[in-house]
Amino acid sequence: MQVQVTEIANLTKSRREVLNFIDGEYVKGSLGRTFENRSPVDGSLISLVYEAGREEVDRAVRAARTALDGAWGRLGIPERAALLHQVADEINRRFDDFVEAEVADTGKPASLTRHLDIPRGAANFKIFADVVKNVPTESFEMTAPDGARVINYAVRRPKGVIAVVCPWNLPLLLMTWKVGPALACGNAVVVKPSEETPTTAALLGEVMKTVGVPDGVYNVVHGFGPQSAGEFLTRHLGVNAITFTGETATGTAIMKAAADGVRAVSFELGGKNPAIVFADANFEAAIEGTARSAFANCGQVCLGTERVYVERPLFERFVQALKQRAESLTPGLPHDAATGLGPLISRGHREKVLSYYRKAVADGATVVTGGGIPEMPAALQNGAWVQPTIWTGLGDDSAVVREEIFGPCCHIRPFDGEDEVVRLANDTPYGLAASVWTQDISRAHRLAGALEVGICWINSWFLRDLRTPFGGARQSGIGREGGVHSLEFYSELRNVCVHL
Ligand code: NAD
Repeated sequence: MQVQVTEIANLTKSRREVLNFIDGEYVKGSLGRTFENRSPVDGSLISLVYEAGREEVDRAVRAARTALDGAWGRLGIPERAALLHQVADEINRRFDDFVEAEVADTGKPASLTRHLDIPRGAANFKIFADVVKNVPTESFEMTAPDGARVINYAVRRPKGVIAVVCPWNLPLLLMTWKVGPALACGNAVVVKPSEETPTTAALLGEVMKTVGVPDGVYNVVHGFGPQSAGEFLTRHLGVNAITFTGETATGTAIMKAAADGVRAVSFELGGKNPAIVFADANFEAAIEGTARSAFANCGQVCLGTERVYVERPLFERFVQALKQRAESLTPGLPHDAATGLGPLISRGHREKVLSYYRKAVADGATVVTGGGIPEMPAALQNGAWVQPTIWTGLGDDSAVVREEIFGPCCHIRPFDGEDEVVRLANDTPYGLAASVWTQDISRAHRLAGALEVGICWINSWFLRDLRTPFGGARQSGIGREGGVHSLEFYSELRNVCVHL
């Protein structure tokens, strides 16, 4: 819902405004229009966000280009890397500000934000600064037809202006996962955070300013997707490459936009990730890992599990144990230590999740636990709360088993053999992640090779070494990011051929 700027005057001081950050300055923009940022916890208004129009997007892209042509473009790698270390240090110095902003926008437990979102958000700047400092380029010698020696060597150059379009589930972490390597490689960025979670991206502008990152290197434009800042940015021909995390359908739209000007894309998209539990698995570890992968962040993790395949002898015991884990998660306030589950990101997203809850019943599922909205105190009833939910008994062709729901839910199905479960796990257009739980090491490696996914965890979930390639197979993404792999997208190798 959009309100006019004039209405801001009627809001109390505690309600904040979130502005665009362009060329080192916070600006409201030419549209004179804001949209509401509401708390998923209780539906209260937490801020009004100034929407960027075509004019602001154009200014941001031009500011980024000017920065590349100016002081930022002339900075050497060690100086750039040192600045990015300072960015990380300054985020950590303002740790609590970032935690509060992220928690307010997402409603997620503060413990999760303190443990994951903000520390990883800061670390992304240091990690990629160090990668860029240390990665070598190649050189070849040859003999020319005239007998002279020839040396070829490669130099690494930034791609230019990078558009960074982000989702809402891990706002700072997923944004800096792209901004970190982009800046480390010497690019300038224009970030379009999710309309649901605009605040930490805006706050990062203050950090950039404080540590002296030149104006125009980091820009933030707020708004929506189609016919708004997201589309204006990705269609802008001054943008040299687009990196995007979000739904596969949005990726399709962005890829069409990127075709004009033949711009490169890097996509981290949706998933419908399987967990495969063999009868010989360490039972407690499998339950613990699967519970986390299905319910952490209220199921709003791209790598989360929504399909669980359990070898038949273990099936009943596994279902009962996971049910117990789901029922032990207490929904509650972000700062309450007893809270095991936050709300979904919005009432709109809850409607989508609940539509799958209804569809599961219509398709004949057995609802093992959950299936609806939890009873919450009166003050929280306008929040986006939903019950963690487990189903059994659905057919393999049910939409609930095939489509990404992005909520705290999973379907558990028994299987009888390795070949069968590989076929079931791969029977999806997605290919982001899988978890395999077994103590048979040969089988574990066989499955890791056979599952068509970007990351396969063996006896674990969400364990990340940030130097490793990260990305999705099939419709779950294009390209790999992480460690040196990020440099493939955020920089270009140019060859210099010298006839001596
Ligand atoms: P989304 O695709 O709805 O939105 C993501 C961003 O794209 C938002 O900033 C939105 O405003 C913008 N956008 C929407 N339409 C656009 C358009 N036509 N042009 C340009 N920009 C547009 O995704 P979401 O709901 O914010 O996030 C959840 C999705 O993200 C899930 O599908 C999840 O699996 C996926 N995700 C994937 C990964 C991964 O690493 N593969 C990580 C996190 C989330």
